[in-house]
Amino acid sequence: MIVVMKSGADPEEIEKAKATMIELGYQPHTIEGLLRTVIGAVGDERGKPEDVEALSILNGVEKVIPILPAHKLASREFKQEDTEVKVKDAVVGSNKIPVIAGPCSVESEQQLMEIAHAIKKSGATMLRGGAYKPRSSPYTFQGMGVEGLKLLAQAREETGLPIVTEILDPHDLDSVVQYADVLQIGARNSQNYALLKEVGKSGKPVLLKRGMSTTIKEFLMCAEYILSEGNEDVMLCERGIRTFETATRNTFDLNAIPVLKERTHLPIIADPSHGTGYWQYVTPMALASIAAGADGIIVEVHNNPEVAVSDGGQSLKPKKFAELMQKAAAVAKAVGREL
Ligand code: PEP
Ligand code: MN
Repeated sequence: MIVVMKSGADPEEIEKAKATMIELGYQPHTIEGLLRTVIGAVGDERGKPEDVEALSILNGVEKVIPILPAHKLASREFKQEDTEVKVKDAVVGSNKIPVIAGPCSVESEQQLMEIAHAIKKSGATMLRGGAYKPRSSPYTFQGMGVEGLKLLAQAREETGLPIVTEILDPHDLDSVVQYADVLQIGARNSQNYALLKEVGKSGKPVLLKRGMSTTIKEFLMCAEYILSEGNEDVMLCERGIRTFETATRNTFDLNAIPVLKERTHLPIIADPSHGTGYWQYVTPMALASIAAGADGIIVEVHNNPEVAVSDGGQSLKPKKFAELMQKAAAVAKAVGREL
């Protein structure tokens, strides 16, 4: 249920509406809009008629909308304006399209610093790099762990780029939070509800990837786990889904971008690297994503992809990344946005 307050409702009226919701057994989540305050009532009950009535008659209440979609807090019904997630000086979800770039895995100081400086020079907004890697085989490289996090922090120091890095295990939360600016939840963990709740409590912005067999509806429910813990800084990432097609690593679901933009106020980031699995398809799909309305892109870049410990085949060399940036700026401009 959503309680829409009149524009100009005073703070006491808003507090009274929230207190009434609590009395009725709901949990209020408040959104202060530009014109008015909206309060989402989260609870198992889907707005009993007597509860709707009790709230409708309160002073300062304009209307009560009884039904909320299952993805309550993520829904456009709950919040019409686009959410802007601030990461240091960058804003995700505004007219400006941030580009997150960097290696799949942090491998060494030399590798990371070289890539970080190169992407910075081309105009990237944030640096990505995995210190804990979710590998399909337990026998392959699992990531540098805390040493990798320290290298990411060093790269931030040298370039000023905020850090996006994956968290795999709630046990690592304290150390990852200490170094990261954005916590990435990978595709394999997108429905790990215990982990989602933990990052929901972390107070850090979250980049939530879509699971490889997660529907858009389920994806929004994953975001709901983070939002319902009080963390509003959630970015959704389309990274391809598993289909019968084998010509590409995944099937990049370009449709998901406009569908998500319609259903949620959360910013959408496109990951054409994992979405395609081949470096030569990354730039075309990055451009298509911007044209389709993505609020940002995340791209794997490696200085020496032939010897990369993970995802070399889908990584752009710095020169190709620089070209992508040029083309992306032109496409952004064509759709009324900027890079
Ligand atoms: C990654 O970003 O390197 C990664 C493992 O991505 P995904 O979870 O989308 O497979
Ligand atoms: Mn990767």
